[in-house]
Amino acid sequence: MGFDAVIKNGNVVLRDGVYNVDIGIKNGKIASIAEEITEQANEVIDAKGQYVMPGMIDTHVHISEPGRTEWEGFETGSKALAAGGTTSYVEMPLNAIPATINKETLDLKLEAAKSQNYVDYAFYGGLVPENIDQLEELVDAGVPAFKCFMSAITAEVPGDFVNVDDYALYKGMQKLAELDQILCIHAENPTITAKLADEMVREGRTTAMDYVDSRPIFTEVEAVQRALLFAKETGCKLHFVHISTSEAIQKIREARRDGVDVTVESCTHYFALTAEDVEEIGPRAKCQPPLRKAKDQARLWDELMAGNIDWLTSDHSPCTEDLKQGNIFDAWGGISGAQNNVDIMFDLAVKKRGLPVQKFVDLIATTPAERFNLPNKGEIAVSKDADIILVDPNSSYTLNREDLYYKNKHSAYEGRNIDCRVTKTIVRGNVVYDLEQGIVGEPIGKLMTVNN
Ligand SMILES: [Zn+2]
Repeated sequence: MGFDAVIKNGNVVLRDGVYNVDIGIKNGKIASIAEEITEQANEVIDAKGQYVMPGMIDTHVHISEPGRTEWEGFETGSKALAAGGTTSYVEMPLNAIPATINKETLDLKLEAAKSQNYVDYAFYGGLVPENIDQLEELVDAGVPAFKCFMSAITAEVPGDFVNVDDYALYKGMQKLAELDQILCIHAENPTITAKLADEMVREGRTTAMDYVDSRPIFTEVEAVQRALLFAKETGCKLHFVHISTSEAIQKIREARRDGVDVTVESCTHYFALTAEDVEEIGPRAKCQPPLRKAKDQARLWDELMAGNIDWLTSDHSPCTEDLKQGNIFDAWGGISGAQNNVDIMFDLAVKKRGLPVQKFVDLIATTPAERFNLPNKGEIAVSKDADIILVDPNSSYTLNREDLYYKNKHSAYEGRNIDCRVTKTIVRGNVVYDLEQGIVGEPIGKLMTVNN
């Protein structure tokens, strides 16, 4: 039998090690993995000197379409993901207007996303105080998980997302446990962080470090502990998004040992940047929870290297450039980062700190695919989707604004030197990005749903 494409000569990252094998692709699937494939192929991809691994599954991306299309779009956002070595993503239920909180608002998003994506995609359902009776219709529509905010969201426009209070969090967990769903949580104490910020602004303390100090570590830990307690009480499965501190991870591990079904992600920016960097970069590096000080970041690195963080995401949370200027307390709290996760983290974790490359693949692909029940994704194995990237570990480049595919070309990583490069991204057998050619072909991304 012939293949549509064969990838030859690469260092292929399989589940149990790195092998010099060929990969045959047919009808969008991985059809063969063998020492040498000699059958006819329409295309031969030479991966000499490069790692061949599953594409990243970025489970934390904000696109903001429809409704806030000027911030980011499916086309530009998915091009950035493709260029960065991400082959599928799960999009957050907030920042777009209206927020995705029922079947009707999910349908608006599905319509907006149609024929615009270069990589595969899925949508979260949101949990807000008013939609507990509508969670089931989102499950029926195939969302892989739900998301809520324990931190404050001030609904600026009608249709925006709303954070849960403790009662809504408890009732929501009860319902999601009954529906056997995972609840993803942004965990920060809203009252303390909001009042500390008010206090700082009132006192005229508005430096980057003041902003970081307005959201101290214990405000993350406190919210994590409260959610874990509710999960123990209700039996709800949890996933903590963008955890920024070793202290919170320790609490999550204790709860897991205690029987709570819980996983945790952290984001590239918590490893690549520190609070001290925010002083230099300014509002482009503002995010929530904030970047932590170098001494705290060192302990987060220890957690990652010890295997205590389940997976990595970007938390790509873009906005227009004007919202990233001026007083940091007023600026939008999100980092544009979808394009630089595989390269930065491979550089920092694998090359600079010696993380085994299979562990790296677990962090970017295999574990999120398993947790979110995406059985065709996350691994180079026969019969899986041919979602494959080539990574050149010996290539270096400086990230420039012109390299960015975002609708608004700003990023906290501008000017950064990265000692590694994604050279090709393949989604279900289709090359969607190539270093020489840029984005290739049509937006072939497909919706991923989960059969609940
Ligand atoms: Zn987010």
